[in-house]
Amino acid sequence: YFISFEGPDGAGKTTIINELVQQLSSKTIAPILVTREPGGSKISENIRKIILDPKNKEMNAETEALLYAAARSQHVIETIIPALNAGKIVFSDRFIDSSLAYQGIGRDLGIDEIKQINEFATRHITPDLTLFFDIDPLKGLQRIQKVRPENEDRLEQENNLFHQKVYTGYKQLLSAYPERIKRVDAELSIAEVVSQSVKILEEYMPH
Ligand code: C5P
Ligand code: MG
Repeated sequence: YFISFEGPDGAGKTTIINELVQQLSSKTIAPILVTREPGGSKISENIRKIILDPKNKEMNAETEALLYAAARSQHVIETIIPALNAGKIVFSDRFIDSSLAYQGIGRDLGIDEIKQINEFATRHITPDLTLFFDIDPLKGLQRIQKVRPENEDRLEQENNLFHQKVYTGYKQLLSAYPERIKRVDAELSIAEVVSQSVKILEEYMPH
């Protein structure tokens, strides 16, 4: 299974994924490989640094979209496909929906355009299941302020309007792909978010 985790910045994706792996690893039919975007391979992590570097403020939206797609391509070919072929379960902290929401809607490049470059980049690989961690994006940003006040991420420093647009992008995806994308209320406590997620995952994966 290829499962992705999505949501606004500060939704708690990374924290919840770590908890899920702890709880599920002994129960799943196969080992779980955890990976992330942008990143997940050496080249992709290098591209991540370029994208997120606050010194690269003049990067235009198309460059950004293509760099995300390039990073994703290497991630798919080098990390995700081999893991799936080895029978592993893959958990990816973000995948194509992030680009559809952030670059497609947040940057106004258009969902269809972003979908096209990403289908090319990923050889049409899509997640089997996606958990969307739903939180008001401004609440997410407030959480980040608390835990990472000195953050060095160019995108997290974007204005509130951008993050609101990204959020509406995610909502569009949620209604466009109701069978694939499942919503989890990420404003709840970590324990509750974990248990909602476990329920969805156990329903989806035989164990
Ligand atoms: O999930 P994480 O915080 O590691 O993502 C790194 C940064 O990249 C975040 O600020 C996120 O908003 C941004 N991002 C983006 N477009 C994507 C994926 C991530 O702007 N397609
Ligand atoms: Mg973040």
